Amino acid sequence: MSDHLDRGGRGFETHAVHGAGGADPATGAVNTPVYLSSTFAQDAVGRHRGFEYARSGNPSRASLEAHLALLEGADFGLAFASGLAAEDAVMRLLGPGDHLVMQTDSYGGTFRLATEVHGPAGLVVDATDLSVLDDVLTPRTRMVWIETPTNPLLHVIDIAAIATLAHHHGILVVVDNTFATPWIQQPLRLGADIVVHSTTKYFGGHSDVVGGFTATNDGDIARRLGFLQNAAGAVPGPFDCFLVQRGVKTLALRMERHCANALAVVELLRGHRAVGKVFHPSLAGHPGHDVARRQMRAFGGMVSFTVRGGEEAAVELCSRTRVFTLAESLGAVESLIEHPGRMTHASTTGTSNEVPGDLVRLSVGLETLDDLLNDLGGALDTVA
Ligand SMILES: *Cc1c(COP(=O)(O)O)cnc(C)c1O
Repeated sequence: MSDHLDRGGRGFETHAVHGAGGADPATGAVNTPVYLSSTFAQDAVGRHRGFEYARSGNPSRASLEAHLALLEGADFGLAFASGLAAEDAVMRLLGPGDHLVMQTDSYGGTFRLATEVHGPAGLVVDATDLSVLDDVLTPRTRMVWIETPTNPLLHVIDIAAIATLAHHHGILVVVDNTFATPWIQQPLRLGADIVVHSTTKYFGGHSDVVGGFTATNDGDIARRLGFLQNAAGAVPGPFDCFLVQRGVKTLALRMERHCANALAVVELLRGHRAVGKVFHPSLAGHPGHDVARRQMRAFGGMVSFTVRGGEEAAVELCSRTRVFTLAESLGAVESLIEHPGRMTHASTTGTSNEVPGDLVRLSVGLETLDDLLNDLGGALDTVA
């Protein structure tokens, strides 16, 4: 796929496996070692080999940052202790009185961070349907926050269209690319200014690490974010960096299977009497289907649906699967099931971002497809 080739003509999978720097320059180790050192010896005062103190930078983190930046087609990348720490740094680009517009069903924690942490510090936050973005812009609007596909309703936002409109007004565009990953879409190439990730999800891919990442092609933004990374200090440890980097090597292969298994799960759900609406960008009736076909290489591994029996039946279903594990989070090798209203999105209850009570969300993993279908189908039979 030509849009996944970099300037040197190498493909996404090659970059995912090899990263930016190749073997460790000091030893030839094919994996970047876990550099467990908080400080680095200097050759003379003011003369060092690129590293001084590990909050400011360490080789494990530098290797991960270059690796992930390459996958996003970005000039600059910065790793953080969690997805929310990365988002917090991006929101700190704004000041009191500035206006941030975000998608109505953004990740609950993102909405909470904007309204309950940055709101009291003076940030004005609006959650809205971005298709009416024009109506909510004010002279103080500085940033539009896109998540696509959204969590948990899997709305698809046209990144290029929003970027064109926002840039016309001098507004920064941020894309949370956690659900799609750069294997599916590369937001900076579609016009976004900043991309953010929870590396806890598909990048890490094994439910064994919490991390965050942000990337940009804008040198000024990168310098400001780099300052915040060091000055506020929400940095990932070297072992966390190693785990994310190890996960990323198989990202392309995993995404391919996540997406394929999800399509089969969608088919099962569409044919089951206990299921109401199914939300997945692959569906022709999905409002974002046409944009998804243009913007995404595949339709993703996240699926949500409503249960006909209502909220109690939805909650019940979540404890009746065995291969799908009842847990928060997503994007790892194992399949997960959850009830957004009472779990990941509980903090949105009573707000404009509240999700339907009869909604169930799946993160479709890499188990044997028949086992996934039998498990989910069997559990659905019991609540039908
Ligand atoms: C999980 C998640 C976050 C938050 O990331 P953490 O690593 O949990 O801090 C942000 N956005 C999306 C879409 C997520 O799924």
